[in-house]
Amino acid sequence: MRRLLFAANWKMHLGPSQAREFMGAFLTSYQGLPDREVWFFPPAVSLAAVAQAIRGRSGLAAGAQNVHWEPKGAFTGETSVAMAKDAGATAALVGHSERRHVFGETDQETGCKVRALLDGGLAPVLCVGEKLEEREAGATLTVVERQLRVLEGLDPAALQRIVIAYEPVWAIGTGRNATPQDAAQVHRAIRAWLTAHGAPAPSVPVLYGGSVSVDNVGSLVAEPEIDGVLVGGASLDPARWTRLASVPAN
Ligand code: PEP
Repeated sequence: MRRLLFAANWKMHLGPSQAREFMGAFLTSYQGLPDREVWFFPPAVSLAAVAQAIRGRSGLAAGAQNVHWEPKGAFTGETSVAMAKDAGATAALVGHSERRHVFGETDQETGCKVRALLDGGLAPVLCVGEKLEEREAGATLTVVERQLRVLEGLDPAALQRIVIAYEPVWAIGTGRNATPQDAAQVHRAIRAWLTAHGAPAPSVPVLYGGSVSVDNVGSLVAEPEIDGVLVGGASLDPARWTRLASVPAN
């Protein structure tokens, strides 16, 4: 059976009390479907609340939005992989476009985070995607392949534990999204890159992210190249998120 992954990136929304409230409403309405997983990426302070709410429920997981690659030390404001794991995370976003373009995170730092997560037993969800001017210059695949290069040198077993999220920067939070066919073309290139670098490619989920909504999610996940979605804005309301994450696969 084809498995789908619906990932909610709450960004800087929903503190612990609101997260508990959200999860209460979501768990009451979401029936759970055998062909999919639903992962939540709350702010660091809400991670434990979400992990606790989903404890014992299959097909649901919690992850960190960001981690530092060092195990501990004088890094004010940062969260280590072990801390995220202790709070209940089984995954973490890496290289989200807001980390790259708002906080200036480099490919090198992204690579350190991927390795720290793999060493610490969490699944990295590596976000890649081009800016509008890069797309217009025809450089989408060059940019995405450059961002994937942080995975070079990983063995097939490590690559198999990674999730890729293709998120064109111009589509994030803008209401503009890539067509399923546009996204699929980039997804194919991502899979080709992974295969060429030793990954058992079909086993690496490749998600699409960027203004995914209840209205467009069906056509996105109907595309065989798209293994699921990473969703910001439309994941913040439990009723809307339940509908979105319950969409039929085709
Ligand atoms: C995101 O934050 O990863 C994202 C895709 O946001 P939005 O769905 O709001 O575009």
